[in-house]
Amino acid sequence: MNISDIIRKKRAFGKLTKEEIKYAVSSFTAGKIADYQMAALLMAICLNGLTFEETCELTRAMVDTGATLDLSSIAGKKIDKHSTGGVGDGTSLVIAPLVASAGVVVPMMAGRGLEHTGGTIDKLESIPNFKTALNKDEFMGNLRKIGVAICGQTNEIAPADDKMYALRDVTGTVDSIPLIASSIMSKKLAEGSDGLVLDVKAGSGGFSKCVPDAKKLAREMIKIAESFGKKAVAIITDMSQPLGNAVGNSLEVIQAIEVMKGKGPEDFRQLVIALSLRMLILAGEKDIPRLRQTLEDNLSNGKALGKFREMVECQHGDARVVDNPEKILPGSSGRIELRAPRKGFVDFADTRNIGIAANLLGAGRFVKEDKIDFGSGIKLSKKRGDYVEEDEPVATFYFNNDSKVKEAELRFWEGMKVVDRKPKRQTLILAEIWK
Ligand code: URA
Repeated sequence: MNISDIIRKKRAFGKLTKEEIKYAVSSFTAGKIADYQMAALLMAICLNGLTFEETCELTRAMVDTGATLDLSSIAGKKIDKHSTGGVGDGTSLVIAPLVASAGVVVPMMAGRGLEHTGGTIDKLESIPNFKTALNKDEFMGNLRKIGVAICGQTNEIAPADDKMYALRDVTGTVDSIPLIASSIMSKKLAEGSDGLVLDVKAGSGGFSKCVPDAKKLAREMIKIAESFGKKAVAIITDMSQPLGNAVGNSLEVIQAIEVMKGKGPEDFRQLVIALSLRMLILAGEKDIPRLRQTLEDNLSNGKALGKFREMVECQHGDARVVDNPEKILPGSSGRIELRAPRKGFVDFADTRNIGIAANLLGAGRFVKEDKIDFGSGIKLSKKRGDYVEEDEPVATFYFNNDSKVKEAELRFWEGMKVVDRKPKRQTLILAEIWK
C-alpha cells in the first residue's frame, strides 16, 4: 500500500477502505509516513469529508495505535466530559475535581491548544512540575486513589491522536466534523470511561460556527460512541463570546481556582454546574435538585478545591498553587490595557480573533515546535452587552515578549467591537442531545 495513492483517492472523493485507513494511521504513528504526507491526507479529508463508516474506521484505527484501558477494577461509574474547544473554555479544570468530589470517578484524557482554542493539558502544564504524560498504571492508580486523573495522549494511549492533533493544529485542518469526531472519540474510547458528556461549542469562537453544524458534530460523536457500545450525550453551548474572563494558560488556572473558591465569572460557573450535573445523571444519579445543590455546595465549601489539590499533588505539581496561584504560576513582565475607542455596548464580532490575539501574545502555537509562554494571555473586564464610556478599559494583555503585541491588538479589535445598540443576550445552553 502507498500513502500517495490514498491521498489521491481521497482527493478525488473516493471512499477509503478499512485497510487503507488503518495503514495510513498506523504507519504515520510509527513514523513511516512523513508529516507532510499526513498533512496532505488530512487536508483532503477536510475538503472532501468521510462517510460515517470511514469516520468509525478512522476512530478505530486511532484507538488501535495504543492501549485501551479497562477500568472495571475501579469501583463506581467512570464518567468523562470533553469540549470541542473554545476561547476561555477552562471548565475541565473545575469539572474533573468537582464531579470527583461528588463521588463519580473522572478519567479524563484531554488535549492541548488547537488553533485559536486553548487546551486543558497546556493549562495544567502551567502549574510547575504538573505531569500530564501519565502512563497507564499512573493514570489508573490515581483514579483508584483519589477518583480523578487528567492526562494527555501519550505513546501508550491514543498515540495517533497525539501526533495527528499536533499536525492539525498548524495546518488548517481542525474544523472538519470527521476529524474532530475521530480525534475526540479515539481518546475517549481508549481511556475506558463508562459514559461521556460532550460540550459542543457553537459560535465564532468554536469550530462549529452555528447550532445546526454543532448538532451534526454532536450526533456524529454520539453515533460513534454507540457503535462502540458506549453512552455519550451532548449539550450545545454558546461560543459566540469568550467563556469567563480569562484567555491564556496561567490566567485560566487562576480563574478556575477562584471558581473553586466560590467566586469567578457567572457564565463559567453556570456551565461548570450544567456539565457536571449531566455527568452525575449519566452516572445514574436521579435526584436533580439535590445533585445541583451538592455541586453548588462543593464549589463553595472547599470540597472541589480539596480534590483539585489532591490531583495536583498526585500528578507531581506544586500544590501551593491552590493557596497562592499568582505567586506559583508563571506570570508576565508586560501588561497593557485595551481601552474602548468610543462609548457604546461591547459585542463580539468574531471570537476566534480573541483566541488568536492571545496566541500572538504567546499563549498558543503557530508551528509545532513553538513553546508556550504560560503567563501570557488576555483578561476581559467587559463582556457582551456591557456599557462602556470612551477610553474605559475593556481588557488587559499579559505578555513576556512584545514583538507581536501590535498585531494582537489589531486582532483583538477584529474580535471585540463597541456598538451603538445593546446586543441581545445569548443563552449559554442552546440545545441538548441525549439520543
Ligand atoms: N478536541 C479534540 O480532542 N480534538 C479535536 O479535533 C477538537 C477538539
